[in-house]
Amino acid sequence: MSVALSIIYLIATVTFIVGLKRLGHPDTAKSGNLIAAAGMGLAIVGTIFIHDLEVPTIIYALIGIAILVGAIIGWLIAVKVEMTKMPELVSLFNGFGGASAALIGIVEFGNADIQATSASMVITVLSAVIIGAITFSGSLMAWGKLNGKVKSVIKIPQYNIINNVFIIAVIGLAAYMTAGSIDTPVLLYALLVGGLVYGILFVMPIGGADMPVVISLLNSLTGIAAAITGVLYDNMVMLVGGILVGSAGIILTVAMCKAMNRTLASVIFGSFSASASGPEGVNKTLGTIKTTTASDTAIMMNYATNVIIVPGYGLAVAQAQHVIHELEEILTGKGVNVKYAIHPVAGRMPGHMNVLLAESNVEYDMLVEMDDINPQFNNADVVLVVGANDVVNPAAHNDPSSPIYGMPILDVENAKHIVVNKRSMKAGYAGIENELFYNSKTSMLFGDAKAALTDLVSELKGM
Ligand code: NDP
Repeated sequence: MSVALSIIYLIATVTFIVGLKRLGHPDTAKSGNLIAAAGMGLAIVGTIFIHDLEVPTIIYALIGIAILVGAIIGWLIAVKVEMTKMPELVSLFNGFGGASAALIGIVEFGNADIQATSASMVITVLSAVIIGAITFSGSLMAWGKLNGKVKSVIKIPQYNIINNVFIIAVIGLAAYMTAGSIDTPVLLYALLVGGLVYGILFVMPIGGADMPVVISLLNSLTGIAAAITGVLYDNMVMLVGGILVGSAGIILTVAMCKAMNRTLASVIFGSFSASASGPEGVNKTLGTIKTTTASDTAIMMNYATNVIIVPGYGLAVAQAQHVIHELEEILTGKGVNVKYAIHPVAGRMPGHMNVLLAESNVEYDMLVEMDDINPQFNNADVVLVVGANDVVNPAAHNDPSSPIYGMPILDVENAKHIVVNKRSMKAGYAGIENELFYNSKTSMLFGDAKAALTDLVSELKGM
């Protein structure tokens, strides 16, 4: 590799690390993203133009067309995607990363003289095919589940055993090909199909609130697949980029499992099934609900000393982040002490609420993480839950039969008064009943979050 290209790769590697570091805070996240993207752009340009190979002009033209088409599609998708659809987009990106690794593996298997290639290199090529294929089909399956095209949880009997036997067979075939230096294309394609089928089998039984963990796991698999191709091409920047994505994905997976008090094994092999909801407003075992109005809620908040706002997925759907900030400013202006309680898996992606509220310029200091805010609910006069459901569901503490039992939640039921804004009595993402709505301290403020909060703001302005 030329010195110029080595320097370019070094710069790109540094930008990835700096970018990743800056993604850790909303104030620096945008610039972090741009810095890492610039580094990636530089690495791509360097790879295309700085080498000792004789490359026909047609190849440059094809690469140029591919980059142009990819950039236009990527740009259009990124501009159009709604914040609530972000996990689906991440899932698709993961899938394409995996597909690239699998294709590279197939091409390099064809190029190499397998009999003369070292076993470690053959293992690398076959790993790229298998991991890439699993990531591709698994991510597409996850994408289908997130956008509702595929049923949330599909279980086949004894799926654990079937899945394990299947992946052992795939690994066994790869080991057989490596040990015997076998270069039969049919076996390579059998491996590819095996990987694709396993990806589907692996994601099929997972559902409900476990989906974010799977997305994050697939994300890390994409990184591992990229790192493997880095080894294949002896390309430092692909290797480092892949390792960063792979390790960040693993860290995120572990953090999300912790936030839901689940082990990775229980996510992959456990079950997540929804319990049936009763008719609107009445539940045989949970009792009846109490409704309230914007004006009653405004009075309660106006005379409160401490108010905690709990934002959830519904806030993002309603795009009510600006009006909630306005509400918080009015209350603060009236001398009320306001805080936002942030659950690590509130919304539809990690950090969703932080990003959403940062967009409307809510002071970052006002966002309090779950462990720090939970002891403060005792002192809260009013808790306003806006479009959140699973993350405030006391079944996580009280009902051992609940699929979210053991998941840490925001302990809003400890507050003096709880107001929950949502549109109906429908369940949240996990598809389960929420006994909080039937608590004697809870009042339901039904309606779209933006409309309800706008009414609340105008009532408060008039006081
Ligand atoms: P939930 O999905 O549990 O609940 C959201 C609630 O918002 C719904 O009950 C819905 O009720 C209400 N809602 C929807 N639209 C509106 C609207 N326009 N106005 C007012 N309310 C609305 O959200 P939470 O944030 O509490 O929990 C997140 C869940 O998502 C967890 O189960 C988590 O595991 C999962 N998840 C998290 C991811 C992450 O990475 N953070 C990724 C994927 C899933 P109604 O229809 O009655 O209005």
